[in-house]
Amino acid sequence: MIVLLKPDATDADADALVARMRELGLKAQRTLDNGRRLIGAMGDAPPGASDTLKDFSCVEAVHATSTPYLLASRSFRNEDTLVEVADGRLVVGGETVVVMAGPCAVESFEQLRDIAGAVHAAGATVLRGGAYKHRTSPYAFQGLGEEALIYLSEVGRDLGMPVVTEVTDTRHVELVARYADILQVGARNMQNYNLLIEAGKAGKPVLLKRNMYATLESLLLCAEYILSAGNEQIILCERGIKTFEDSLRNTLDVAAVPSLKLKTHLPVIVDPSHASGHWGMVEPLSRAAVAAGADGLLIEVHNRPERARCDGHQSILPERFAKLVDDCRPIAAAVGRRM
Ligand code: PEP
Ligand code: MN
Repeated sequence: MIVLLKPDATDADADALVARMRELGLKAQRTLDNGRRLIGAMGDAPPGASDTLKDFSCVEAVHATSTPYLLASRSFRNEDTLVEVADGRLVVGGETVVVMAGPCAVESFEQLRDIAGAVHAAGATVLRGGAYKHRTSPYAFQGLGEEALIYLSEVGRDLGMPVVTEVTDTRHVELVARYADILQVGARNMQNYNLLIEAGKAGKPVLLKRNMYATLESLLLCAEYILSAGNEQIILCERGIKTFEDSLRNTLDVAAVPSLKLKTHLPVIVDPSHASGHWGMVEPLSRAAVAAGADGLLIEVHNRPERARCDGHQSILPERFAKLVDDCRPIAAAVGRRM
């Protein structure tokens, strides 16, 4: 249920309603939508619960809703959520299409510094880099761990770039949150509910990637876990799904962008690197993503892709990245955005 409060309702009115919802066995979450107070009531409502809530004089309307992801839905909050990164120095979901770029994995301080300098000069405003890597083979490079986190925060600070990096394990959430500005939950962990809850509680925005086998509804239900833990600062990421087409690593579901935008108020970004697995596809897919209304791009860049310890085949050179950003700018402008 969604409870709409009257315009003159007070904090005390909302507190009393929330207390009553809890007595009814419901979980309550508040929001402001275009200046109006709303409270979402989640869970199995006992018979008559809606009438009980309607009896409060501060309540304007109680709407029944069948959506399984109430807090993530546009019916709960129609206004776009703006995700504020690094104490509001950068916003995801506003007019500007945010470009996040860097290597798949941090391999050394010099590697990160050189790539970060190049992507920053080309217009990226968030630095990406993996410290903990989920690899198909247990013998493949698994990331430098805390050493990588230290390099990311140093290089990010020097360039004035907030940092996004993946957290793969609940035991690392506190450590990663100490160094990173955005916590990435990877595609393989999309339904790791304990990780979602812990990452959601760390006080930082969460970048939630869609699993390659997941529907949009299940992605939104995973976002709902983070929202119901009290964190509204979530960025969704389409990164390619499995289809019968096997010529590429994955298939970019470009329709996911406008489809998610209809369903949810959360910002949606696109990762064309993992979506294709091929460097030659990254530029056209980036252009398609911006044209489709993506709020940002997450791109793997490497200065020596042939020597990359991870995902070199899908990493683009800094010069190509600079061209990609330049080529996307007029597309962003054509859809009413800036880049
Ligand atoms: C990544 O961004 O480094 C990554 C591993 O992506 P995904 O979880 O989408 O595979
Ligand atoms: Mn990668």
